[in-house]
Amino acid sequence: MARPYPPGARLLARPDAVRPCAGCGDPLGRGYPTCATCADAVDAYWKADWEALRGDDTADRDLAADVLAEPAGVYPWTCTDWALRLIPCPACRAELGTGDPGCLTCARADQSRWAWDHGGMPVAMTQNEHTLRVAVAALRAADRHRDTVVAFWRLTLPFLLVGETFTAAQARRIRVLLLAGRAEELAESPGYAAMTALPDLPWRA
Ligand SMILES: [Zn+2]
Ligand SMILES: [Zn+2]
Repeated sequence: MARPYPPGARLLARPDAVRPCAGCGDPLGRGYPTCATCADAVDAYWKADWEALRGDDTADRDLAADVLAEPAGVYPWTCTDWALRLIPCPACRAELGTGDPGCLTCARADQSRWAWDHGGMPVAMTQNEHTLRVAVAALRAADRHRDTVVAFWRLTLPFLLVGETFTAAQARRIRVLLLAGRAEELAESPGYAAMTALPDLPWRA
């Protein structure tokens, strides 16, 4: 079976700039996964790896079971993620790893996929790839995360998609601004630098 090279999400070139989504009008990716156009644009990187791995004559479900039976690192991380999507959780029936926070089967499935991201693999993921993966996993399992966490990933995904990364300090600043109710201004900002440069407002009584 031919394999896409590890680690994953490198078969297709990333967009060269953030552009408005033809479906929802927001920067492409921000509507993930509700807006189909945003979802297709993001998922394309996972799908390309999956289709390269699957070829023409393997069934999705069979391949998904094979991929999930192997330790992380044998297949590209995108294929592990895609396999999880194809298999419903035997306990809660949600997409595996995305179910109710109380579902232990989902929690286990979600936890086991992250070995790729914690080093020790022959070919490392980039920081951008890791962050993009975390964003997509969180947005597909929004019920498992706090609202500000979901808002943070929606906000940042369009820039992650074009290959940008943010620093820990930028992430902290964006989270603080979200908690302070500045989501609209953040959403209009053309990048992380502009988001973090939003001024503090004087305290309003
Ligand atoms: Zn959209
Ligand atoms: Zn479950």
